[in-house]
Amino acid sequence: MGKLNVVVLKFLTHEDFRVLTSVEMGMRNHELVPAALVAAIAALKHGGCHKVLRELIKHKLVVYERGKHADGFRLTNTGYDYLALKTLASREIITGFGSQIGVGKESDIYVVQNQEGRRLALKLHRLGRTSFRKIKEKRDYLKHRTSASWLYYSRLAALKEFAFMKVLYGRGFPVPKPVDCNRHCLVMQLLENCYPLCQVREVADPGDLYDKLMSLIVKLADHGLIHCDFNEFNILISDKDEPTIIDFPQMISISHANAEMYFDRDIACIREFFKRRFDYESEEFPTFADINREDNLDHEVSASGFSKEMDSELLREILTAPSQFDEEDNDTATDEEVDDGEQVAQDSSDASEDEEKFLAAEKENSFTPLCDPDVTSRV
Ligand code: ADP
Ligand code: MG
Repeated sequence: MGKLNVVVLKFLTHEDFRVLTSVEMGMRNHELVPAALVAAIAALKHGGCHKVLRELIKHKLVVYERGKHADGFRLTNTGYDYLALKTLASREIITGFGSQIGVGKESDIYVVQNQEGRRLALKLHRLGRTSFRKIKEKRDYLKHRTSASWLYYSRLAALKEFAFMKVLYGRGFPVPKPVDCNRHCLVMQLLENCYPLCQVREVADPGDLYDKLMSLIVKLADHGLIHCDFNEFNILISDKDEPTIIDFPQMISISHANAEMYFDRDIACIREFFKRRFDYESEEFPTFADINREDNLDHEVSASGFSKEMDSELLREILTAPSQFDEEDNDTATDEEVDDGEQVAQDSSDASEDEEKFLAAEKENSFTPLCDPDVTSRV
């Protein structure tokens, strides 16, 4: 797991971002974007695209690779993160970057701050985070995959999560309040004084919480949706034992071909957890037949910019992708090979000095400002 050194953001000039964005645009139809294409898209007034690219390589925002057919540049995770953060900062959605609070199986979560000093949660989706070994085992699955697909799927996942959070929040479901979304990055309400259920040892009334969770699964289904990952990691519990549900990229409609299987699995997850953790068992639990469709949030979501086609593509990726959880053997080759972008620049003296500041700031749980409006060109 790498840290994101946002201080580097402050040193990036307009030209740097222009070139970084050009690499991103080139990746829509090139696995590796040739230097000449980057330069053509960027069309810098005074030229010098190569020099900027060298700088971006130094900060590990892009890498240069030799491909089967051609050589060229591609964005790293960090490069993509910076593009999203820069956009959210210029929309004045976030102004400060704090510490990391969670590493999910397919994301990194940070605390950020907005202009009024309010704390928010920022989720960076990382859908390509599968190790190399699994990738080798799943050649078939990867046959039509390009190195750029992690960009695409991570962006789809964030877009889907944002769309679902909006409709669910709008209907009064206990989910974080959505704020904004750009690329693979989602900004939402930070749930304070909450713990993931997996960390909760004791609740005042397990039966009451169990009933609430079962009712939530049914209420979701009555509105047309199945969470598909309704477990102790995706349920946050407040100090008053109230649950909030998170993590929606894998949600499906109750008309999905395997809806019943996923519904039953969500129910089973909760039953097993309550037995294991609280020694609580109940004969009563909902079944698929209990669903009483009263709303069509599944259709409403596709009206909000996240289409059915995008959804089936994303679900194919999520529900069939090799999971990290199956991977207990210590085949360390590799997360780095796939995940090269997580390292931060250390080779420039400015950057390492700032890294120290960044780490110190993190310790104090303070926020690093994201933008320095005066930086327009490097001196
Ligand atoms: P993943 O898809 O990678 O599992 P999640 O959305 O489940 O990501 O988030 C991972 C962890 O981050 C959660 O288990 C929780 O601890 C924390 N987290 C996520 N969203 C929030 C939030 N809005 N407020 C507080 N903590 C959060
Ligand atoms: Mg999760």
